[in-house]
Amino acid sequence: MKVHNFSAGPSILPQEVLQQASDAVKNFDGLNLSLIEISHRSKNFVAVMDEAIALVKKLLKLPEGYSVMFLQGGASLQFTMVAQNLLKAQNGKAAYLNTGTWASKALKEAKLFGEILEIASSKDKNFNFIPKGYNIPEDVDYFHCTSNNTIFGTQMHDFSNTKAPLVCDMSSDIFCRDMDYSKFDLIYAGAQKNMGPAGTTLVIVRDEILGKSGREIPTMLNYETHIKKESMFNTPPVFAVYVSMLTLRWIDQNGGLPAIEKKNRAKADLIYGEIDSNPMFIGTAEKEDRSLMNVTFLLKDDALKDEFDAMWKAANINGLNGHRDVGGYRASIYNAMPIESVQVLVDVMKAFTKKFG
Ligand SMILES: *Cc1c(COP(=O)(O)O)cnc(C)c1O
Repeated sequence: MKVHNFSAGPSILPQEVLQQASDAVKNFDGLNLSLIEISHRSKNFVAVMDEAIALVKKLLKLPEGYSVMFLQGGASLQFTMVAQNLLKAQNGKAAYLNTGTWASKALKEAKLFGEILEIASSKDKNFNFIPKGYNIPEDVDYFHCTSNNTIFGTQMHDFSNTKAPLVCDMSSDIFCRDMDYSKFDLIYAGAQKNMGPAGTTLVIVRDEILGKSGREIPTMLNYETHIKKESMFNTPPVFAVYVSMLTLRWIDQNGGLPAIEKKNRAKADLIYGEIDSNPMFIGTAEKEDRSLMNVTFLLKDDALKDEFDAMWKAANINGLNGHRDVGGYRASIYNAMPIESVQVLVDVMKAFTKKFG
């Protein structure tokens, strides 16, 4: 029986990617060896890494001058790596936009290494909107933002033109839409939301912003270490990189980011349309800041929670419970989620209202 997987992360991957990945665990490239038992320096695996890096550059249409890394430690390790690599050792200063739990954690880690300005926050409204109209001081070493707030269901639809390097945590919306990625100087994303299994983190950096901090950086935390060794300074997470590469191939073969964005917008329109027209539900995020990836909503009458939960569970829906900081429900509709599964959820919402409304 098909399960409709709305999990926030780790989350849904394309069926064909899962099939190819499981085949490669048994017999990779016809070698009669498993992908996870061969040397990461074998030509077969080096080809995987090369293709993954090339696909990232192709899909995001990155110009010359960017490096792409597949690291470990999750997006959470990037909270400190960004600060240690980019904050000046003397009077280092950075600006952070606080749009949620992950942004707050990034800010907290950076504070260990310099003066961190929280230039705007939506905390007083439980992060249900994206602050706008803030000023980014010109003398900061970088500006950090979070493009999609996985827990609160908000997404940035505009990015300021900053003089300072623009750094963005795109963990939960990387590869979800077509835009000008060359305005970013550093992008990072844990793989497990929209790209692959947990275990690797994609980091993209404009080379010219590195090497300017005047700070001693531990070898493993220094981006330059990993760039020089093509993400093979130490053993890379071979399985996670391989599955991420397969997902990138899948995006490329299905029309790239313009086609993915079109599908994501159709899915988002379908579910938000139901939330807005159904009298039993209410969305939690401000409409103009709604996420294409994580759709957060509440039941207007919490007394009917058990009835609604029973109905979506009976429809083979998984992972719909909201994060404890928001409550209610969260439908994560990442790239691999087919619109048919979104329709199943919408049909359950309609049936629920017919029965209890
Ligand atoms: C999940 C998530 C993180 C944390 O990722 P880990 O890989 O678990 O460290 C950071 N930022 C955002 C936006 C996320 O959604």
